[in-house]
This record gives sequence, structure tokens and C-alpha cells, in this order.
Amino acid sequence: MSFFESTAFEGHEALHAFNDQRSGLKCFIAIHSTARGPATGGCRMWAYAGEQAAVDDALKLSRAMSYKNAIADLDLGGGKAVIIGDARTAKTPALFEAFGGAVDTLGGTYWGAEDVGVTPEDLAYAARRTRYMAGLTGRPASSGDPSPVTAEGVKRGIEMTVKKVLDRSLSGVTIAIQGVGHVGARLAEKLAAAGAKLYVTDLHEATARAVAAKVGAQAVPPHAIYDTDALVFAPCALGGAISRETLPRIRARIIAGAANNQLADAEVGRAIYDRGTVYAPDFVLNAGGIINIAAEIRALAEGGAYDPDWVELKLERMTVTLSEVLDRSVRERRPTDVIANEIARERIAAARG
Ligand code: NAD
Repeated sequence: MSFFESTAFEGHEALHAFNDQRSGLKCFIAIHSTARGPATGGCRMWAYAGEQAAVDDALKLSRAMSYKNAIADLDLGGGKAVIIGDARTAKTPALFEAFGGAVDTLGGTYWGAEDVGVTPEDLAYAARRTRYMAGLTGRPASSGDPSPVTAEGVKRGIEMTVKKVLDRSLSGVTIAIQGVGHVGARLAEKLAAAGAKLYVTDLHEATARAVAAKVGAQAVPPHAIYDTDALVFAPCALGGAISRETLPRIRARIIAGAANNQLADAEVGRAIYDRGTVYAPDFVLNAGGIINIAAEIRALAEGGAYDPDWVELKLERMTVTLSEVLDRSVRERRPTDVIANEIARERIAAARG
């Protein structure tokens, strides 16, 4: 099968490859869709096993960004950049300046931001060579760290889902948080403040203990987080947390967290639905971060400043969308992830005309 007809490339507009011999930059930028606006999504730096693995990741992630941006009702399309290299050893200012130069050749079709392995400091080097970079600091338009906004969106989504499914407030509700990094730790603080009883875990057990001590949670070892009696399971670590192996161990009535790509495969979404657990689709619930980035892009376009009121409106809209997805799932007797994907695809198709 030709690359253009492959399932991986299906629906994409473009895949760009950049090779800068002076800095050593090898990078792919995938543009899934610009139908709703400039393709926007973070830049990931990862020691990929090979070039094909990097291409596959860029294509998969850019499609996911299109869906996330569409369902969050942002005037943005979806794209993603991946830089091949070990973020712990291969970073140089020249590499990120070259990356900025690569982004600039696309003339605003793609906007970059942080993702795994890439920090705002790295992006500041990239921004020397392009204006199509968001998630920066130090300018009136700057949106800074997206994690607090992501955590706020996830907290509101959990609160709304608990009300809908269990008909109660967060007070006294047991919630298990897997991964207490940038988002998970802030989420723990917000949920504890709302009266929830928390189990937390992290691969870095000292981090889990520190967060637990701060918010009055119970820290458990990473393998034990699936076996608690929590009513809500909140994946906030890496993707694939909910699989055929872990799902039977999770007794929660609700699965709702910040991690991207929580379902190990599409069948897991069906299995969650069939056993009566309510899943808040990850890309609906964790859009707070990209909403924050969108506020920066909007401010730059208008020559204005970052507007927290606009972010608040979009966060409120996100919770309404999640509520609609949960209601449709009950009405139509279909898994929530299927419905959310459908809404995103319809919005992108409508914009394509
Ligand atoms: P992070 O790297 O700061 O935190 C992740 C934490 O999870 C780390 O502390 C890590 O040690 C821990 N972890 C990894 N695997 C684990 C496991 N198996 N068990 C327990 N702990 C584990 O990342 P983050 O920025 O907090 O993002 C968390 C998740 O949310 C990621 O999937 C990310 O893609 C997604 N997300 C983040 C944002 C954002 O604004 N940062 C926005 C949208 C989605």
C-alpha cells in the first residue's frame, strides 16, 4: 500500500521532514488539518527507535490534536512536531533555533508549543527564528505553564461527572490519582480542597509521598492504584493506563483524568461502557492546556494580552460538551469515546466543507 493510502496518513494534509546538518536537527511536522485554523499541537522530543516510529507518532498525535481542538471548540486545526533525540542529552540552543527555522518555513500553517521532553526555555530558542510558537513566558500574550489550567478543567469535569452519575458533590468521594506530576499534583490539591478522599501514586514514590502529605491523601505503590476502592479512577500519568489487564481490577464507577490516550485500544472503550462504568473521554476532559495555548495565539494575532476571561469561557464550554457526551452515551447506548470522536470528526468535516 502506498504511504498516501495508509491508515496512518489517512485524513492528513501534510507530513514535513526536516534535516539540519549543522545542528543535528531531525524532525517531522505532521499537519492533520487546517480546516478550523492553523494546525496547533506541541513539539515532542523523544529517543525514537527509528524514523518510522517518529513518523507514526507525529501522525497519530497530530490527528489527536485536531480532535481535541475541535471538541474544545477552538479555531485551531491539529498538528504535531516530533524531534528525534534524547531530551536529556541531545538538546542544544542551535537545535531548537533550527527547529524554529523549520516551523517558520511553514508560514503559520503549524503553531508549536511544549510537549514531552520540551520546555518553555527550549521554545524560547525556537522563537528566535519564528513567531509561530506559543506556550512562552515574558510577553503580554504569554500563557505560561498550561498544567494548572489542565488540572482545573479535569477537576471541573470530574465534579460534573460525579454529580451526574452519583448525584453527589465531591465531598467524601474517594478518588485514585495515577501520576502526580505537573497536572496530577495540582488536581490532587483541587480535589482535596473540595473534600474528596484521595489515593495517589507515582513511579517516583517520594513524589507521591510528598503530594500525599501536602493534601492529606493516602500514597500507594504504583501497581496498587488499580486495586483501591475509589469511586473515581483518574489516570494522570502516561497513555494506555486502561487496558484489558487493568480494567477488571478497577472498581471505580467513573474513569476521568488528564492523561492523553488513556485507552489501550478502541475495544477497551466498549468494555468500559458494557460494564456500566462512565468514561470521560481524555481529549474532552484534558483540553484546558490547549485552551490556554489558544488564548496566547489569539492574543498574538490580535496584538493584545492573554485574556483569562476567554479561557474561563472555554473551560465552561468544555464542561458543557462533556456533559452532552455523557448524556448522549446514555440516550444512544454507545460508548462515550465513540461519541466524542464522532463530534470531533463532524466539526472538522463541516469546516472542510
Ligand atoms: P508529568 O510528566 O509532569 O507527570 C506525569 C507523572 O506520572 C510523573 O510524575 C511520572 O513519574 C508519573 N508516572 C508515569 N508513569 C507512571 C505509572 N505507570 N504509575 C504511576 N505514575 C507514573 O506530566 P503532566 O504534564 O502532569 O501530564 C500528565 C498526563 O496528562 C500526560 O499524559 C500528558 O500527556 C497529559 N496532559 C497534560 C497536559 C498539561 O497541561 N501538562 C495537558 C493535556 C494532557
